[in-house]
Amino acid sequence: MVDEREISAVTDVLRSGQWWYGQKVSRFEQAFAGFQDARRGVSCTNGTAALEMGLVACGVGAGDEVIVPPYTFVATASAVLRVNAIPIFADIELETCNLDPRDAERKITECTKAIIPVHFAGLPADMDAFGELARKHDLRIIEDACHSWGTRWKGKGTGALGDCGAFSFQMSKNITSGEGGILLSDDEDLADRAVSYSNCGRGKGGAWYEHFLLGSNLRMTEIQAALLLVQLTRLEEQVLRREANAGYLDGALADIPGIALIKNDSRVTRRSYHLYMFRFLEEHWAGADRARFWEAMQAEGIPVRGGYPHPLYRSPLFLKEGEGPRFCPLSCPYHGRKVDYRSVVCPNAERLCEEVCWINQSVLLAEEQDMRDIADAVQKVWESREQLADV
Ligand SMILES: *Cc1c(COP(=O)(O)O)cnc(C)c1O
Repeated sequence: MVDEREISAVTDVLRSGQWWYGQKVSRFEQAFAGFQDARRGVSCTNGTAALEMGLVACGVGAGDEVIVPPYTFVATASAVLRVNAIPIFADIELETCNLDPRDAERKITECTKAIIPVHFAGLPADMDAFGELARKHDLRIIEDACHSWGTRWKGKGTGALGDCGAFSFQMSKNITSGEGGILLSDDEDLADRAVSYSNCGRGKGGAWYEHFLLGSNLRMTEIQAALLLVQLTRLEEQVLRREANAGYLDGALADIPGIALIKNDSRVTRRSYHLYMFRFLEEHWAGADRARFWEAMQAEGIPVRGGYPHPLYRSPLFLKEGEGPRFCPLSCPYHGRKVDYRSVVCPNAERLCEEVCWINQSVLLAEEQDMRDIADAVQKVWESREQLADV
């Protein structure tokens, strides 16, 4: 969503000549951190970079293992590889599509340094359970909060529930500057390390050409921050509207046996929706499959789609022909273990790749009548399931 305010905010930056290192980036960092109840915000170029910054700031590096879910965007796992650490896949829960803390615990070894729970579609992972695992096994928790702008767990925003959390402002996200990201944390030292990493390894109070750590350049521009400051003014109202519309859909679809809703959790006190998701339970559809259901929904004018075709460990990145992945860090002598992703099986993730249906977040900004149209279309297709199977 964009109006004249974004256009004039960007124009103001262009006219000011201050495209970089002005006031807007730090104003946005403070405003967004405040919105998520975090003490510090460190902005950057995108959500992938925010995850990488979080891993570095938590001290994750060569030889370390990081537990991740396989039902997520590639960045959750590739950011781990970027810092020379090893992603280890643990399964998700069928009811929530979020990382299962019990399976994560089973995957802990003496090399495990961190866990990255993803708040998938905006529903927080079980942060009580992950906090408990972190205490018990001395692990860092880095939230992949790239779907959860505005989500609250027991009254507190996501992002600083664990050690730190990464957000994305890429074009498909609920607020956007085309590309952009931020890392949130309540830990001042961690945030300072992230700032240094994002700014060429410069140090607090150090000279401009003095570099203290192996950093990168991940700085956000004033143009991005100007856009995000305007986008942020709409976020609260949009979170509430999406939440109300999703609640309406939950109510309207609850009694259709061929549909399973995503389970909520009473500890979630506000829920962002990057996607409205439900499961297509093929065994109830009299022979019609999910692809036929989508086609019928498209014919009704409802944009439903499938999302990830397979769990991440089935991506060619992890399945090099022959002897398995050979690139560093997977062949790193510091790690000293053999990693072969061809033998990874996460049954829930595999099943959900076959069952899940996605409706995009932007649809949830429509009117209640539009939600009724969606529910009516599902009901109509459900009632026609036998004909559908025959076509
Ligand atoms: C979008 C997304 C990211 C990465 O964000 P970019 O800004 O595109 O780099 C990471 N994790 C998840 C779950 C995402 O959806």
